[in-house]
Amino acid sequence: MDVEFNTGLWIAGKEAPAEDGESFQVIDPASAEILGYAARGKIGDVDRAIEAAREAFYSPQWRGLKPEERGRLMFRLAQELEAEKDRLARILSLENGKTLDQAYDEVGTTIRNFEYFAGWADKILGSIVPVSPDVFDYILHEPLGVVGHITPWNYPLDIFARGVAPCLAVGNTVVAKPAEETPFSTLEIARLASKAGFPDGVINVITGYGKEAGEALAGHAGIQALAFCGSISVGKEVLAAAARQITPVVSLELGGKSPLILFPDADFERAAIAAAHSICYNTGQSCGALSRFLVPEEMEEWVVSMVQQTLGSIRLGRGLENPDMGPLISAGQLERVLAYLQEGEREGAVIRHGGHHPVDEPLSKGFFVEPTLFVGAKPGMRIVEEEIFGPVMAVMTFSSEEEAVELANGSNYGLSAEIWTRDLSRAHRVASRLDVSHVTVNGGGGFGIQAPFGGVKQSGFGREGGWDSILQYSRVKNVWINL
Ligand code: ADP
Repeated sequence: MDVEFNTGLWIAGKEAPAEDGESFQVIDPASAEILGYAARGKIGDVDRAIEAAREAFYSPQWRGLKPEERGRLMFRLAQELEAEKDRLARILSLENGKTLDQAYDEVGTTIRNFEYFAGWADKILGSIVPVSPDVFDYILHEPLGVVGHITPWNYPLDIFARGVAPCLAVGNTVVAKPAEETPFSTLEIARLASKAGFPDGVINVITGYGKEAGEALAGHAGIQALAFCGSISVGKEVLAAAARQITPVVSLELGGKSPLILFPDADFERAAIAAAHSICYNTGQSCGALSRFLVPEEMEEWVVSMVQQTLGSIRLGRGLENPDMGPLISAGQLERVLAYLQEGEREGAVIRHGGHHPVDEPLSKGFFVEPTLFVGAKPGMRIVEEEIFGPVMAVMTFSSEEEAVELANGSNYGLSAEIWTRDLSRAHRVASRLDVSHVTVNGGGGFGIQAPFGGVKQSGFGREGGWDSILQYSRVKNVWINL
């Protein structure tokens, strides 16, 4: 493939090379060839970006804006994104490998985030506190200042937008560090923000490696808050780096091992087909992927064959050709997923479908893996306990509602869960007993940007979406006036 990209950093409204002129390679996951180069930002570049964001935060061009003007800028950005959605979807599909349809979905959610939070900009109300008749005491929600956003490669635009849009609505400024695997789409948003009229320095993007640019941003004294989405191990490092500066980490989303619980009264056929498609979405590289499929003992064989049949219809291919499923993100991720498949078999689970990296060209050249179905999975197995981040589903059986809830909650993660049942009482009862922050009943996705999403247990903390994220990116100030 011809090299398509050669990008710089985005600081103070301009594209600029890294201080030392270095770049890094970005690999096309569908072919393992070089897709392009991005500037390799390091501590000096992070310093410059934070300084630009600090200046912008205090500038009359940003701080002096009426809230409605801030909202209008965000609407304009949404319109710019809409006008360039074909280009954005293509970039996203190229760098991440996701199918074009899924890339369009993500661009759509990105646009919605800016539209939705634009509306919040002038609706962030304070309140009055009844302290005493001769005191007027009120509460304000003020911006925090410069906020760092460290984002992963699985939904580069969506995760950027759901954190950055509320952050801007409140009046903060931003330094973002996208994942090194997918730097290009985020830079496009920064460029379009300038085109939409955002003042220089409000949105800055430092591309680079986690250990260099990411670590420098997380541990920097110049940011007032940090939002992170990624793995547990990096999440711990980011928390430790932020702790050294007493920087609040307002949102830390660390993935999941989400259960899908199919109760005996559910619409089995719909559920099984939906489960199979859902584990293939984004090649299983979603924090909310429903990777543990809990089914009633007596229905196991029927459900497994239905899932198997659906997985058999999944076409793999380069994202831009819009197959059903694209490649994994990287050689490292492919190796990791294949190692889990081996480990699952070693531990006694049985692969009923898939399990391989395709051997024929062109798929053999990219980081593809077949969608894989394990049966006979048991608590304690690594394929049940750990996040694989690939199209791998483990089926487990239960014989009572009690046991289903116990299995579902038997995880260190606590992000989301899906219940399938026609019994409304059971839906509410089980939803209330699950140790997760997000429950879906009878499918349908269900991650509305108007609603909070985030983790409990080792899935992290903080909530993105809706009013909760406005609160998260603001600080409370109390003013007491002696009358
Ligand atoms: P994933 O498991 O999704 O690859 P990672 O946790 O490895 O996610 O990476 C998520 C983000 O964190 C990326 O932008 C990555 O560059 C960044 N990152 C990786 N290591 C560090 C680190 N030590 N400090 C700060 N950021 C990091």
